Amino acid sequence: MFGNLKPQAPDKILALMGEFRADPRQGKIDLGVGVYKDPTGLTPVMRAVKEAERRIWEAETTKSYTALTGEPAYLDALSAMVLGRTRDSDRTAMLSTVGGTGAIRQAFEMARMGNPDLTVHVSDPTWPNHVSMLKFMGLPFVEYRYFDSATRGVDFEGMKEDLARAKKGDLVLLHGCCHNPTGANLTLEQWAEVVAILERTGAVPLVDLAYQGFGDGLDEDAAGTRLVVSSLPDALVAASCSKNFGIYRERAGLLMVQVADPAQRELAQGALAFLGRQTYSFPPDHGARIVQTILEDAALAADWRAELEQVRLGMLSLRQQLAAELRSLTGSDRFDFIELHRGMFSRLGATPEQVQKIKDDNAIYLVGDSRLNIAGLNRDSVPVLARAIVEAGV
Ligand code: PMP
Repeated sequence: MFGNLKPQAPDKILALMGEFRADPRQGKIDLGVGVYKDPTGLTPVMRAVKEAERRIWEAETTKSYTALTGEPAYLDALSAMVLGRTRDSDRTAMLSTVGGTGAIRQAFEMARMGNPDLTVHVSDPTWPNHVSMLKFMGLPFVEYRYFDSATRGVDFEGMKEDLARAKKGDLVLLHGCCHNPTGANLTLEQWAEVVAILERTGAVPLVDLAYQGFGDGLDEDAAGTRLVVSSLPDALVAASCSKNFGIYRERAGLLMVQVADPAQRELAQGALAFLGRQTYSFPPDHGARIVQTILEDAALAADWRAELEQVRLGMLSLRQQLAAELRSLTGSDRFDFIELHRGMFSRLGATPEQVQKIKDDNAIYLVGDSRLNIAGLNRDSVPVLARAIVEAGV
């Protein structure tokens, strides 16, 4: 039965977490795993989440199954938050998913059901789980140029050239905002150019929106996604509530599938229900219910937005401090990209040896590709990291 099992390579980031825990050095700094941490190093339960849970606990009278594709009120509230006025309900099928990862996985399944001959286009680099899911599923994929290692911004000319090669019916995976792992993002003008390429080629976008509210604001971070859905006939959007609601372990996500013609919506909705049924049947409810409770209540929603904004501005101010610190240590502006990046991550552009040296000499843990989690810093540790970066010769 199990004779064919092979050892699986451990997840690099999870392995790094283990190494960090075992490091006995005082003052060690974890900039590895992609989880928001406040200045004291905690990943707090947000105020509105606590209050929503209390209300749910008081009001809930049954734990019976909810709807197969998820609670309609949750789907409605979250899709409105993501798409705003660009949501076209007549053309959009929706599935409540097990986190953002579940939404992406089901999006791949849905795309393959729709077009068995598709190739998936992913950014180089991208969130490693994108690639590993595609490999596991045996879905052909190609990378498009994305990160310019000289400027640490987007290699937009390269990106456009590569995306122009997509075929009709291919799937193009785009990060909605706060690109993971680089932190480099498209401007809205560049989104418009990407949309024009998708229009020309007939390739279909899958927008992975895992950090709405962590970059420039809730609406600002969804602007690219909204442009995509309002401009194109077919589009898929995978949203995660893990980061912006801080409910990582509750596993709340949403897959939206926009079809060209309202007549196709029922078919798409049926396909999503089928996919859910084949994987885990009903989706989990608790995280979704928290999100719905918050979004449906004006006061709770306002409090959640205020706390999210505080989180966002905190990360932005750490970015500014780190860039300023590096400017004064190096006498140059070559690290200013840190201030321009958005979201939790920045790719420093350090070599694996430099990343190792930063860890060996200072007990500062970055991911091997030199991605650092800005939220792992605080005002006191920023100067320590800046010095370590310079001393490692980055
Ligand atoms: N997409 C990206 C780019 C991510 O970074 C993550 C989380 N690390 C996800 C999707 C999925 O998040 P989750 O499944 O925890 O909701």
